[in-house]
Amino acid sequence: MAASTTDRSLDNNAQYASGKATHKSAYPGKQPIQPAKRLAVVACMDARLDVEDLLGLQTGEAHIIRNAGGVVSDDAIRCLIISHHLLNTNEIILIHHTRCGMLAFTDDLLKAGLEGDPAAEKLLGQATARAFMSCKKCAATPSTFHAFRGQIEPLDAPRDAKQTERLAGTFGGACPRS
Ligand SMILES: [Zn+2]
Repeated sequence: MAASTTDRSLDNNAQYASGKATHKSAYPGKQPIQPAKRLAVVACMDARLDVEDLLGLQTGEAHIIRNAGGVVSDDAIRCLIISHHLLNTNEIILIHHTRCGMLAFTDDLLKAGLEGDPAAEKLLGQATARAFMSCKKCAATPSTFHAFRGQIEPLDAPRDAKQTERLAGTFGGACPRS
């Protein structure tokens, strides 16, 4: 039986682990939209992982879907469905790694910390060796931060008097008309 793309990627990984460069960084020219190796990779976003180098992948050969922890989240599944059903991939590699930062906390703990729970803030600070700041504490000027919340409208959308008034209050003056 012929080696699969996954098998060849593992061979490339052995070369990478022995110190050999496996990814060409030069601009490859135009590529088809479908990944040439019909491969999708789900991996942790850890800055120490360079997925193209790890697997010897070149530009245009695979979809690379990354998030904190390499979690097969709803969004990762959405990406994989698009990858497989619309863009013809037929192999998936899932990459997790040792010393992953996501082992130090849970999403529930992070949520509690963002909401300002002191115990959660303390635990998150210990996990990351830095002071954790909740949403309530980290924005230097909360009113400015909140000015950018809400749906983004096209620049040529009709002016909304209520929004203009809110922004004028935030920035301490009238919003200039374009
Ligand atoms: Zn990780």
